[in-house]
Amino acid sequence: MTCQTESVPHSSDISGSINALSRFGSYPEVIRLEKAGFTSAWFRARGPEVQFEEIAMNSSVRSAAFVSREPRASCWPEQRPCVAFDRRRYTLPTLKRGLEEASMCKRLALILLSCVVCVAVAAQQPALTVGTATAVTGQTVTGFIEVSAGSDVGTNIPVAVIRGPKPGATLALVAGAHGTEYASIIALERLIQELNPAEISGTVIIVPLVNIASFEQKVPHVNPVDGKSMNRFYPGNPNGTQTERASWAMTKQVVEKSDYLIDLHGGDLDESLRPYSYWAPTGNAQQDAVSRAMVLAFGLDTIILSTDRPRDPNAARYLETNASLREKPSLTAEAGHAGTVEPEDVTALINGCLNVMRYLKMLPGNAPPVQNPVWIERIASVTSETAGIFYPMVKRGWYVQQGMKIGYVTDLFGKTVWEARAPSSGVVLYVCAVPSMKKSETVANIGVVAGKAP
Ligand SMILES: [Zn+2]
Repeated sequence: MTCQTESVPHSSDISGSINALSRFGSYPEVIRLEKAGFTSAWFRARGPEVQFEEIAMNSSVRSAAFVSREPRASCWPEQRPCVAFDRRRYTLPTLKRGLEEASMCKRLALILLSCVVCVAVAAQQPALTVGTATAVTGQTVTGFIEVSAGSDVGTNIPVAVIRGPKPGATLALVAGAHGTEYASIIALERLIQELNPAEISGTVIIVPLVNIASFEQKVPHVNPVDGKSMNRFYPGNPNGTQTERASWAMTKQVVEKSDYLIDLHGGDLDESLRPYSYWAPTGNAQQDAVSRAMVLAFGLDTIILSTDRPRDPNAARYLETNASLREKPSLTAEAGHAGTVEPEDVTALINGCLNVMRYLKMLPGNAPPVQNPVWIERIASVTSETAGIFYPMVKRGWYVQQGMKIGYVTDLFGKTVWEARAPSSGVVLYVCAVPSMKKSETVANIGVVAGKAP
């Protein structure tokens, strides 16, 4: 057996320290994985799908994956794409047997193992590059969506691409268009770390923080660079201000490369919000059935039926609409409030994303739809008729009756100058969380409950 060693670059943090992939002989191949300073592992490939049947690996390696960044033909004849570990696939007996058989080979001394390790399947997924991150099968690869300077400064939007070893859908998860809606940002930061690429079928594109300047400067609602909301200018404009250029980059890099999209938000610094999601049907029955199922799988128990979205893909305005009008079933979900990062909000968003992945068959397991959600048929917004100091009399999630006093505004001497009253009966989706009140600003959004589920 001649030894042809081809060093394969990798960028794995998941397993730590596997350094090289070497190929010996010709098909059927024996693959050796060298783990730095430790032991080696042998795989014998068989069949056109490169199912590895034997493995011996040091126990500290729990999961890992490889793919050549070189042209595949140089490393994988016949366009067989990659090696990845799947810890569920191989159990200790399998590994022991692999060890015994591999020990007959005099070329390597193999160290025994104690842990469940796995192996891999090759999947025929073409390369996917988002910004500077090029997907590597079985790995989490990070990079940036570069927005170059134009009429104002440029920005770099962080992105993680998590590519499973098996084929499947591409789901985009986005947060931080409003950079102080912290719970949603933290939820995606955690998902980048916690999603195990080996378990995923398909690809997850995670953009945890679109609006960097808002986050850094703690400015709610808008991008302080140009004063624009980063969820109002889709599909964007490559020649516009930073928000427009960033939106354009999101459209080209994230939306167009995805099959499905979830946009995460929450109550901003000045909003006390109860969790809810939006379902915005497009009129395409098949697509709408999928997005409806995604919203139900996401699991938040209050769902706003949003029927007044733009219909022109060139004036989509919102990220979710931008994706929906490009035939990608999508939803928006909100949790978190007033600058807090409450565990229940973060968990609700993380579990929602995981359940949608289960619904889309990107993760194993079922995603039972939320039972008996409250459907909101329209939002009654209450805006202040005057500037002053706001005193709320309701809390997020409370049910109020039409005409009920929900708060009041005083002048700077404490004299009440305006009373806020509910224009309709419904649930308080959010109420202003701080005393600062400008004329025409939103005091509260009341969700009017639908008579029946749509
Ligand atoms: Zn938002």
